[in-house]
Amino acid sequence: MKDSELFATYLEPLGLTEKDIKLYQAPRQAEVSIEHLAPLSRKDDGSQLLATPETRDQWQLLANEAKAAGILIQPVSAFRSIDYQTTLIKRKLAQGQTLSAILASVALPGYSEHHTGEALDLATPGQPMLTEAFEQTAAFHYLSEYAGKFGFRMSYPRDNDQGFVYEPWHWRFSG
Ligand SMILES: [Zn+2]
Repeated sequence: MKDSELFATYLEPLGLTEKDIKLYQAPRQAEVSIEHLAPLSRKDDGSQLLATPETRDQWQLLANEAKAAGILIQPVSAFRSIDYQTTLIKRKLAQGQTLSAILASVALPGYSEHHTGEALDLATPGQPMLTEAFEQTAAFHYLSEYAGKFGFRMSYPRDNDQGFVYEPWHWRFSG
C-alpha cells in the first residue's frame, strides 16, 4: 500500500495530520499478503494465528527446545492486518483512551511489525500477559538467551528510539 493511500484511508480518519506522521518515530512496515502466511498456532479461544512460513518454522524449533527445557512459551498475537490494527485502535478510543496514550503501546496502522507476519507477542501460562512483568518469567530468560539462535530479536527494549514502551513480550524473526 502506498503511503498516500495509507494516509487517506487509515490515518487521516483517526484525526492525524501529515505533520503528525512526519513526527512519528516508528518505521513503516509492509503488510504481507494473506497467501504468504501459514498457520502458526491456535489461541485458547480457538482463533488461528498466522505468520510467514519461515517465522513459523523457526518459532516451532525454538518453542520445542524451550519445551524440552521445561518452559512453555505461547504466541498470543502474530500477523495483524492494517485493517485489524485500525480496529484495535478504534476499540480503545471507544473505551475512552486518548490516541496519544494508545500509541505508546499500539503502532499506527501501517507501522506495526505485526503486519509483516514476522512478529510474535509471547506469553507463558499462568503469568501476566503483555506487561513488563513478563521479563521476570523463565520464558523471558529463555528467550533472552536462545531466541537469537533462531533469528528472533526483541524489537522494543527499554528506552527504544521508536517511541514505544518496553515490550519484553514482542519478538520479531529477521532471519
Ligand atoms: Zn507485538
